[in-house]
Amino acid sequence: VRKLIVGNWKMNPNSLVEARRLFNSVAKAAKRFQNVDVVLCPPFPYLAALRPAPSALLGAQDVFWEEKGAFTGEISPRMLKSSEVSYVIIGHSERRRHLGETDEMINKKVLAALKNGLRVILCVGETLSEKRRGQTKAVLRRQLQHDLASLRLAALKPSALIIAYEPIWAIGTGVPETPFSANEASRFIRKATGRIISPKVAKNIRILYGGSTNSRNIFGYLIMPELSGALVGGASLDAKDFTRMLEIANLL
Ligand code: PEP
Repeated sequence: VRKLIVGNWKMNPNSLVEARRLFNSVAKAAKRFQNVDVVLCPPFPYLAALRPAPSALLGAQDVFWEEKGAFTGEISPRMLKSSEVSYVIIGHSERRRHLGETDEMINKKVLAALKNGLRVILCVGETLSEKRRGQTKAVLRRQLQHDLASLRLAALKPSALIIAYEPIWAIGTGVPETPFSANEASRFIRKATGRIISPKVAKNIRILYGGSTNSRNIFGYLIMPELSGALVGGASLDAKDFTRMLEIANLL
């Protein structure tokens, strides 16, 4: 399976000039890396101003589930498609936490995005207290059951759905989950997803690890059998470090 490295810029950088510079610098460097898929997810205003390159595709950080109408501030799947966006992150823990996104809302977003031909990067993961209480698997199962409800993925290509295992306590903290544990959680995610949609499809979906990855630790995750790449936050804002991550992924 080709590795997939996704850069989640979150609410950065502060200007379109900087966004263009970062995007162009990564897209240019990524031309050398033919064995890795690269997706960059800038904030909405920059998405519309950037053009995807063969070496760096565009992803959004969110999407709304309705097609159009009176939904102030929201962005539809078709609007993303018309801005040449091909991927969308759904259910990031920062949206669950700060914006009150529920699994029910996330499920509607997943269904609407897939229906409109966007590739979905669904984020799931446990909090530190859930981990300490030994609830990681129960949390992942519950999130997947709700987030993927009513999904008829059997008719879709496995490439349409990507799941990012993002332990919340590891995001932006500099304290990543170990590659071994991330692999274990991903194995569980694949099994649970198989039960919800179809084992055949789940076998071939890509599962990413996300949480304080950088060019110094990415190798350990990318060699894990259940992992096909990474969702990268902070390090994706540093063109040099992110390019090094792509270089490593390209070798595997
Ligand atoms: C993320 O935002 O999905 C993420 C993994 O962030 P970071 O790499 O900064 O931990």
